[in-house]
Amino acid sequence: MDYRLPRGTRDILPQQAALFRRIQDTAVVLSDMYGYGEIHTPIFEYSELFQRGVGESTDIVEKEMYSFQDRGKRSLTLRPEGTAPIVRAFVEHKLYNEAMPARYYYWGPMFRYERPQAGRYRQFWQYGVEMLGTLSPWADVEVIKLGWDFFARLDIPTSLVVNNIGCADDRANYKQSLKQYFNSRPLCDDCNNRLGRNPLRVLDCKNPSCQQQMEDMPLIDQYICTECAQHFDAVLGGLEALDVPFERNPRLVRGLDYYNRTTFEYKTDKLGAQDALGGGGRYDGLVELLGGPSTPAVGFALGIDRLELLMSGKEDPAIRRGFWLVTMESVENQAALWAYKLRDRGVSIDFDLLGRSIKAQFRQADRSNCRWALVLGPDELAKGKGAIRDLVTGQQEEVALDGLVEHVLNLEGVKANGTDT
Ligand code: AMP
Repeated sequence: MDYRLPRGTRDILPQQAALFRRIQDTAVVLSDMYGYGEIHTPIFEYSELFQRGVGESTDIVEKEMYSFQDRGKRSLTLRPEGTAPIVRAFVEHKLYNEAMPARYYYWGPMFRYERPQAGRYRQFWQYGVEMLGTLSPWADVEVIKLGWDFFARLDIPTSLVVNNIGCADDRANYKQSLKQYFNSRPLCDDCNNRLGRNPLRVLDCKNPSCQQQMEDMPLIDQYICTECAQHFDAVLGGLEALDVPFERNPRLVRGLDYYNRTTFEYKTDKLGAQDALGGGGRYDGLVELLGGPSTPAVGFALGIDRLELLMSGKEDPAIRRGFWLVTMESVENQAALWAYKLRDRGVSIDFDLLGRSIKAQFRQADRSNCRWALVLGPDELAKGKGAIRDLVTGQQEEVALDGLVEHVLNLEGVKANGTDT
């Protein structure tokens, strides 16, 4: 039997992992700069959290959750998203007693039983931020701008789509008129079902014939109350002041129940059907819904896998870095110690563990994308010297072993990623 990945999952091999790491580093630096603290919640939670927090009538809860019973007969679910767990933690640890607003960010895998295709997986990674405890439109602006800055730093062109889905009352009126509109029109079985439970979910349907029925439907912007309209105008004003370009789309009603007022999505035109790179919005009622005090909030979640897909094509060819130690078996033990002396100081250096010839060791240095070779053979060691060969220019110089470490440390670009002595 051959063993394979579970459908919809993928291995992140070192080259992709390096890209993941770069994306993550950007998220960490930016979140830190904006004052967001990192938060980790468990990979699984009690299923009720998502049933209640994400919403019974959503696609996620209806058909995408990885739920299972543990040995204690409790129903658990692999987290399909990050917001409900963070709100659960916020309430559970009474974080609302701390200075408001609270700002958190997270990074990690999410799980949804979706039909896999390029850019859509059953295990995928998200970076997200949440700001809780303020109704200020500047909170919405901050979160949207933070996401915008993130894509800009990674040099990924995106377009920002925004919408105002109002408050619960606005949506109740809108749902009513959607129901009337769709009642007399043919929809798929799923949508007929949705129409009874939550007509807004019809708008998520990708079925072309349902899409066609949506062409003349009423739009939410005609149902927004003055207060919600003023809030949204202030958000748009903030975005304009910060030169963040956006497009308004009254059809953007995101697939989770907890959103109100501002919703937004970052899109790309480079990934075909999977064009959403991330999105978010306000969720002023969720903390209370999950048992906490009434606390307004806003956040986003961005999909890392899709970013990686976009970036993997245009990475620079591997940059040469670090050393390869070239030696001979007779002096291997002595030479290896020099490699460790350099590693101790943060220098990336590798050496042969397979008894290769000198020529093969140089070839290996090249294949491993090393920038330099350090030659420590019996002749060099007997003279108290080592030879450093620049594998790009081919130039070689002899260096006294006494000053070898210092000499290496002074070479430009010698340090391994992120290390310092
Ligand atoms: P959502 O929580 O559904 O708003 O998703 C936020 C972002 O996560 C999306 O815009 C995607 O970039 C990403 N995402 C959501 N579901 C998947 C999936 N199944 N596979 C890969 N990325 C996903």
